[in-house]
Amino acid sequence: MKFSHEMYQKMGIEEDVYQFCEKIWSSLETRFKEIDEISEYNQMKVIAAMQKNRVSEACLLGTTGYGYNDLGRETLEAVYADIFHTEDALVRPQITCGTHALALALMSNLRPGDELLSPVGKPYDTLEEVIGIRPSKGSLAEYGITYKQVDLLQDGKFDFEGIRQAINPKTKMVTIQRSKGYQTRPTLSVGRIGELIHYIKNIKPDVICMVDNCYGEFTEITEPSDVGADLVVGSLIKNPGGGLAPIGGYLAGKKECIENAAYRLTSPGLGKEVGASLQVMNSFYQGLFLAPSVTANALKSAIFAANIYEKLGFPVVPNATESRHDIIQAVTFGNAEGVIAFCQGIQQAAAVDGHVTPEPWDMPGYDSPVIMAAGAFVAGSSIELSADGPIKPPYAVYFQGGLTWQHGKFGIMKTLQRLVEKGIISSDFAENH
Ligand SMILES: *Cc1c(COP(=O)(O)O)cnc(C)c1O
Repeated sequence: MKFSHEMYQKMGIEEDVYQFCEKIWSSLETRFKEIDEISEYNQMKVIAAMQKNRVSEACLLGTTGYGYNDLGRETLEAVYADIFHTEDALVRPQITCGTHALALALMSNLRPGDELLSPVGKPYDTLEEVIGIRPSKGSLAEYGITYKQVDLLQDGKFDFEGIRQAINPKTKMVTIQRSKGYQTRPTLSVGRIGELIHYIKNIKPDVICMVDNCYGEFTEITEPSDVGADLVVGSLIKNPGGGLAPIGGYLAGKKECIENAAYRLTSPGLGKEVGASLQVMNSFYQGLFLAPSVTANALKSAIFAANIYEKLGFPVVPNATESRHDIIQAVTFGNAEGVIAFCQGIQQAAAVDGHVTPEPWDMPGYDSPVIMAAGAFVAGSSIELSADGPIKPPYAVYFQGGLTWQHGKFGIMKTLQRLVEKGIISSDFAENH
């Protein structure tokens, strides 16, 4: 008997669940090798950027007050620019989250009378208020910035003709969301994003193409900025923070776009020159260093989950075999009990708050109760093992993260154990599959 087998028993994983999961795991060797190769490439990309910019011990120390001449901050921004192959970057603890980073990119690069276009359908929920799709104080709409949206076609393809018709003299910026977020459309690969940008730039060369890169960083060997994006934007409590960054967001892109954003974040005239890094630099650097590996662990966990639940007959997006361009895994249970049991299983695997039982609640901003499993070292961090699901049809759960593959594996085993214990999956499941 493998010694981990005994540990799983102690941790409440019963024999049939263990055997079933081990069998699935042993079929994933080739798949995991591909992921390891991507993370190997990206690990060196990160090290190369750090070496080129002469990251030194002094960079890890922070500044206070105005933060003039903050060596760590300035060097880190150069490192990000090199990793994303962009002219410049803005990487700050003063950017509070992903939504803030995206809002900053939009509000600083658009002016009254301009128009924003989303050629990939509805953007992430929180951006609806930023844009003014749902009215909000301080939205782009309030400042006289209009918005157009072209949905993807039924089969998930770009509506090229619709996009051509939507582009007009006012179109100043295009926002492309890489990850599916809480939708069922496929996540966009870097290749497809490149194709879309190429098409748009052919129609209007001076339009600013921004990519919401949340959850996508380091899942491939290239980033959207390698295929024509003028600006890529994301959160440091997702992939690029490597689980260590306690806060923050980044923008990487054209010098002018970054300057606009810096003037908006701090103040016109001050821009990038101020913004003390306090005590976070060490975690930003070390998190970025770990990010390719952590992202690989999250990808492995997602693929493991897809294979387990597809085998058991549940619809999974992406499916067990398709290529991955972000770390999110959706599993549709078709009933509230399944969503709840899955999230409770994830929580039971947590190192922090593993003793609490999550329940659905009426979260502000949502039109149905939502259940969230998150036992995280960084509150709300979704590069850590986490899951959530709205309690409404089709009763799907969204699972992501896992700082270590071992933790991701354990978490998924716990979900299956919980589903079996609650009778949602019949106890003879192993025989039927
Ligand atoms: C997480 C996410 C956001 C928003 O980030 P927050 O940090 O939650 O504000 C935006 N877009 C996508 C695709 C995301 O996954």
